[in-house]
Amino acid sequence: MKPNELIVKGKVKSVIQAVEEDQVLIHYHDKVTAGNGEKEDYPEGKGKINNEISCLIFKQLEKAGIKTHFIQYAGPALMRCKKVEIIPIEVVVRNYADGSIVRQTTIPKDTKFSPPLIEFYLKDDSKNDPLLTEDRLSVMGYKNLRQMKQYAAETNVVVSDIFKKIGITLIDFKIEFGTTVEGNIVVADEISPDGCRLRMNDKSMDKDLFRKGEGDIIEAYQTILNKLKE
Ligand code: UDP
Repeated sequence: MKPNELIVKGKVKSVIQAVEEDQVLIHYHDKVTAGNGEKEDYPEGKGKINNEISCLIFKQLEKAGIKTHFIQYAGPALMRCKKVEIIPIEVVVRNYADGSIVRQTTIPKDTKFSPPLIEFYLKDDSKNDPLLTEDRLSVMGYKNLRQMKQYAAETNVVVSDIFKKIGITLIDFKIEFGTTVEGNIVVADEISPDGCRLRMNDKSMDKDLFRKGEGDIIEAYQTILNKLKE
């Protein structure tokens, strides 16, 4: 691949080949989508804010010894990362009940999970990202579940603590994993308010504001970034 060549264009990010063969640049767009892309908007400055939040979180994960794809902040809305092959599984960690688990089960909203729940969903919009069982994952050939679960639990401890320090509760979040050129599994993609449920003084500070049309995500995301940088 040649430098600057587009590797993947996702819903809100693009992955671009870096000069170094084993590195990429992730470009965060000023775009937000919900409901499998059914609803979208183009909030100015979102890419820059999410990139900065994601870089700060990945930096802390690396500091805590959790292997990620992150290399460094590479400019406004750009993150330099190791090139990985994304594993098409979304791993969701839940500290409190909200969202799909409340819609789909009899578990009341805000139920505290201890230990946190760790769930696997298929990353496939055409199938509506179904929840998977460990048996199904095994038949599908996934052999690294235990490792992904452990990384997810460790990531939850670090990310919950980052937010707790700024007065925010991490209700739940989604992470993705990738396989590096060397064959190692690392935490990949982004960790930002787009893929987390965050609550501050009973107020949503995440993409639910957009999903439900209940507020300005830029104001909420910028507040989070400012607090993280304090
Ligand atoms: N999530 C995500 N991408 C997805 C699905 C979920 O980032 O495709 C995040 C979501 O923002 C939330 C967590 O994963 O923080 C759990 O989402 P849930 O299963 O409750 O689904 P939702 O209510 O968002 O449909």
